[in-house]
Amino acid sequence: MTLTGNAQVFVGANHPFEWRSFPLPDVERKGLLVKVSLSSVCGTDLHIWHGKRTPPIPIILGHEAMGVIEKKGSEVEYDSAARKVKEGDRIAWSYIKACGECYYCVILNDTAGCQNRFVYGLFAGCDAAPYFNGAFSEYIYLRPGTTFFKLADDLQDEIVAPANCALVTMVNVLDRAKLRLGENVVIQGCGPLGLYAASLARESGASNVIVLDAAESRLQYAESFGANYKFNVGSMNEEELVKKIKELTGGLGADLVIEATGVTSAIPTGLKLPRDGGRYITIGPIFQGASAEIDLFNLIFKRISLIGTARNDARNLFDALAFLSKNKGKYPFQKIVGEKFKLQDIEAAFKAVDDRRMMRAAISA
Ligand SMILES: [Zn+2]
Ligand SMILES: [Zn+2]
Repeated sequence: MTLTGNAQVFVGANHPFEWRSFPLPDVERKGLLVKVSLSSVCGTDLHIWHGKRTPPIPIILGHEAMGVIEKKGSEVEYDSAARKVKEGDRIAWSYIKACGECYYCVILNDTAGCQNRFVYGLFAGCDAAPYFNGAFSEYIYLRPGTTFFKLADDLQDEIVAPANCALVTMVNVLDRAKLRLGENVVIQGCGPLGLYAASLARESGASNVIVLDAAESRLQYAESFGANYKFNVGSMNEEELVKKIKELTGGLGADLVIEATGVTSAIPTGLKLPRDGGRYITIGPIFQGASAEIDLFNLIFKRISLIGTARNDARNLFDALAFLSKNKGKYPFQKIVGEKFKLQDIEAAFKAVDDRRMMRAAISA
């Protein structure tokens, strides 16, 4: 008898998810069949749900997740950090599988740029085996070559699931932004990305960590995640904001500004905040057609480095898990996840995040 598993299948924007069952795939010698414990709804999933990004359909979405090894291939003995693994172990995996062979992987050592990458929950539909390519499902099949790490017992599912896209991506952002000790950092947006950015900047030795958001409710956790200043930009004009940031940075402006709002209108204002020679890095508005009008005179004469970035390297997941283990008592990472929904109630989970009733909705299979 063929064993099967259930999944929520996305068939197109404005259509309800479809509950379908698929045969569990044969596990290759270096593959892993994982029972998903917890997944969470990322901004990318929401963009797809709204039709702003178009993956192949039908597809099982979901890339922020963790789970338990159900069946491991005969040649899988160790995780990507050389720790012995067995069936029943809790693991987190990189949702981006780089090829390890292309110019980006080999010459540039920039696996986030891999030209042949495979992204779980985004790249492969579910109309052919191994079907289980996304995390909004009871199972996910990890292809040979996927980076994965065994989880420490004291890292709760709730802390790991949302970290495995949002936090990992932010680790990559700070890597690319080359944050130095004592720098002043401004973070636009106080959602999960902004909160992770604040705690990472704090732990990386930033001097001031200044968080901005237009909603008072989102700013409530800023200090507990490491910010020492926060401003509600919904109740102040741009001139006041620029003045405030200058006052807090010795009259210079921020060394680094991180845009984590997903709102294109935040960018022209954000570009007024770096000091002469400062950096501005944007990651939020990840949907087709996102555009903003920027003041090139300001950009050029203030010699601002404008950096766009997306994705992450597999090693960022290792760093993110180490960061969580070390700092889980210091920052309330468990607050990122709001309510937990059953996989059957996926529509309600999407709706809750879309209505901004919670930062991350978690889904348990
Ligand atoms: Zn994501
Ligand atoms: Zn590659």
